[in-house]
Amino acid sequence: MKPINQMVAADISKIKMIVFDVDGVLVSRGTKIKQVGNTTTLETKVIAHKQITQIKELYGRGYLVNISSGRGLYMLQEMFREILPFVSLTYENGSATWYKGQIYQHINSFKYLKDIFPKLKQIKNKNIKGFEPKEFIITIHCKKQIKKIENIIIEDKNLYTVWNGEAYDIGIKNHQTKALGLREVMKIFKLKKENTMVIGDNYNDAELLAESGIPISADKTRVKGKFYVPLEGEFLPADSLMQKILALKS
Ligand SMILES: [Mg+2]
Repeated sequence: MKPINQMVAADISKIKMIVFDVDGVLVSRGTKIKQVGNTTTLETKVIAHKQITQIKELYGRGYLVNISSGRGLYMLQEMFREILPFVSLTYENGSATWYKGQIYQHINSFKYLKDIFPKLKQIKNKNIKGFEPKEFIITIHCKKQIKKIENIIIEDKNLYTVWNGEAYDIGIKNHQTKALGLREVMKIFKLKKENTMVIGDNYNDAELLAESGIPISADKTRVKGKFYVPLEGEFLPADSLMQKILALKS
């Protein structure tokens, strides 16, 4: 892995689309959620004005911009409201993509998750903060790892779970990952692997990064890339990357 400052124009000459993870890349890590009875409180993070401007500039220079997140569509639309005409949103770890009001569903997880959800809901543990509203995956926020959740998922050979330090994402093993979303988005825009650059920071980005022409790690302790940017540098990882690309293609 090379630091991003060693990236040169030749490295990005074939790139047509840049894929951004959200948490830890375009905004700082951490989701605030609280669930009491049937009331869920979930904080909406805001994309800084500077990143909005950078994304508009990338678009202006001919790049496609794809946002690929574990979050739900409702949340991503809220976060990216100002730049929705310029981006596609791939949500819930590659499960579906929103582009200009059209939704492309990439996987149907209903029969795999419908019996697991009530089992997980039954778990009583003071370290469970809440279930984030999702359509195609299950996301459980916890103060720390909970063996009982992991054991329920291990027993089901069709499912995986990823602990990202604040929540478990649960989906269909080997299929329902961000890589699926990228492959489908590449079909929508008629792109090849070499045309895509991806930046991500967490375990649920591993498959996505492996699927792209130029993977960029925003946390080299968790995921591998061709290049890396520091997670806690002077700028957010996406900020550093966009500065670099805009400087190389001015
Ligand atoms: Mg992330």
